[in-house]
Amino acid sequence: PEVRAPRVIGADAPVPLDDGRRVPYANLDYAASAPCLEAVHEAVTRALPYYSSVHRGAGYASQVTTEAYENARETVRTFLGAWRRDAVVFTRNTTDAMNLLAHAVPSGTSVVVFESEHHASLLPWRRAVRLPVPATPAEAIDAADRALAATPAGARLLVVTAASNVTGELWPIRELAQVARRHGARIAVDAAQLVPHRPLDMTALGLDYVAFSGHKLYAPFGAGVLAGRADWLRAADPYLKGGGASASVAETVRWAPSAEQRHEAGTPNVLGVIALAAACDALTAAGWDALAAREERLLARLRAGLAALPHVRELTLWGDRSPRVGIVSFTVTGWNARDVALTLSGEHGIGVRDGKFCAHPLVRHLLDGEGGAGCGEGAAVRASFGIGSTEEHIDRLCTALARLAGSARR
Ligand code: PMP
Repeated sequence: PEVRAPRVIGADAPVPLDDGRRVPYANLDYAASAPCLEAVHEAVTRALPYYSSVHRGAGYASQVTTEAYENARETVRTFLGAWRRDAVVFTRNTTDAMNLLAHAVPSGTSVVVFESEHHASLLPWRRAVRLPVPATPAEAIDAADRALAATPAGARLLVVTAASNVTGELWPIRELAQVARRHGARIAVDAAQLVPHRPLDMTALGLDYVAFSGHKLYAPFGAGVLAGRADWLRAADPYLKGGGASASVAETVRWAPSAEQRHEAGTPNVLGVIALAAACDALTAAGWDALAAREERLLARLRAGLAALPHVRELTLWGDRSPRVGIVSFTVTGWNARDVALTLSGEHGIGVRDGKFCAHPLVRHLLDGEGGAGCGEGAAVRASFGIGSTEEHIDRLCTALARLAGSARR
């Protein structure tokens, strides 16, 4: 098929300003949920005439839908560079995927996690060693090394994000995977903010588990993935008990032996999964080099624009030069984050997010030293972008933020 530049739906949708004028939306909130790709819409439209339940029916529509659903699994496997023997389980989102993994981890497993994680990766573990926010990537590697060395014998799991949802910074997952391997530990990577921006190859990087969400990958809500080693998943009780997860039910219940069947009880979100796989295909077809180069240009423009504003401070974990994806958080002197976000929306038609981004310990750490100068309530503003974003969106944000100088409101 012909390769087209990927386009998102609704990129130029008009939005009302406080004064009643309408302007094209500048969506700078991709890290929360990305808009849908046209290719995703088309894939769902193609699937709808054969709308049917998977696996159980013998009718033609059910066969077609089952095939599409299982093909989607293989698309995701290829997209992630997972092994053929790995499980690819469809979940609701990253949160669901991490909770499934936490459910399947053998009891007594030592879990090590950085406290800078998104709550989806920080909170599901029954017990975990929490490592403080590292001052450098090298310190992250060293801290993981020491923590894993100190864990008792038995199963071990290191949990880490691939790209921060707060600063966009890329974590050294290749090196962390090597550290895990040295200690006989497994590594689970929260790739929610990486896969919309960069390719990921689980096999090449030596990752044991990867979780991500369709709605951050230009597909609609409600479908996500946990991919990785099948043994723990096969040995665990079903995450949800019900039809599909059971092989036979009499006096006793025998659970389905495959990890996918065991943990996908009930009628699955077939259209969500088809949409998610279509997004994987569309991004791959667009080419990661082209996508990343475009994003780097927009990111450089945004960061230069913010750096020129003395009242705006970008939050970074590891300094200005650390590599990152198109996500930037910042504070504005004299303004609280909510008022900045509301002003950007109401006066400029710009959508950003404000708050603590479900990463409270990390945001607290990044704001330490603010001295109450900006966003005194412990929150920040986040601008994040992707395929539908333009230079005009970036420039509009920088111009709007420039106007906030001197007009303190908190
Ligand atoms: N991890 C990261 C890094 C995220 O950015 C998010 C979403 N903000 C999640 C996990 C949770 O994703 P979801 O809400 O789709 O479960």
